Amino acid sequence: MLQVRTVSKQYGQTLALSKVSFNMQDGETLAILGPSGCGKSTLLRVLAGLEHPDQGDVLWDDQEITHLPPEKRLFSLVFQDYALFPHLNVLANVMFGLIERKTPRKQAGQVALDWLEKVNLQGLERRRVTELSGGQQQRVAVARALAVNPRLLLLDEPFSNLDQQLREEVQNELLATLRETRSSTILVTHDQQEAFKLASRVIVMREGKIEQVGTPSDLYHHP
Ligand code: ADP
Ligand code: ADP
Repeated sequence: MLQVRTVSKQYGQTLALSKVSFNMQDGETLAILGPSGCGKSTLLRVLAGLEHPDQGDVLWDDQEITHLPPEKRLFSLVFQDYALFPHLNVLANVMFGLIERKTPRKQAGQVALDWLEKVNLQGLERRRVTELSGGQQQRVAVARALAVNPRLLLLDEPFSNLDQQLREEVQNELLATLRETRSSTILVTHDQQEAFKLASRVIVMREGKIEQVGTPSDLYHHP
């Protein structure tokens, strides 16, 4: 379980996060929703360990992780631009985190192949990622993130580079994958429809603060 307790973060005069607190249960898909500049990315970077809060703390299973480096948190992060390795093929991209964690090469290859099948990319494992479409690259990024069996998956506006039709397709696929794997997931988005569609609970942020928390139907009926 993740606990965020009164986390604040300031950049110069800008209060990017102001006493943000929430809990998240294992297996939950949580969306952080709000307009540009409300602090979503800052919150995600604090959770990932890429940024330290000025105040407050972050706990995982009752252990303080506020100052734990990113690689020790066992979280996976998918950025807006996917950050795939262009010189590696699809399979090698998905194997990367496993090899880094000292998984034997053969086993890593098998796990990566299984994940490529789960995200419907079977047959493309030898392609260079630069030869793939945006939607396919997005799926490689999700497969790479989930292949290491992270305690928490962090997604930062993962569909923003896709056109509307493709976005819906890839959203549906991600939803199916997350339901199947029951991965604990936090999704940052400014798209209300996307948050309502993918998340079981939504945190609405505004100017660095949590404005509302609820299930999509709570928020839909009491906006
Ligand atoms: P969002 O992800 O919701 O668009 P951000 O977390 O990126 O919001 O930003 C929250 C606020 O903090 C914004 O006003 C932004 O300009 C500011 N901010 C974010 N990162 C930095 C930074 N590294 N330096 C200065 N200001 C920042
Ligand atoms: P996002 O679109 O995901 O919210 P942004 O475009 O707000 O991301 O920020 C991208 C990067 O720029 C982040 O690393 C953030 O820290 C930095 N940044 C955002 N706002 C500012 C700012 N006002 N001054 C300096 N750096 C900023």
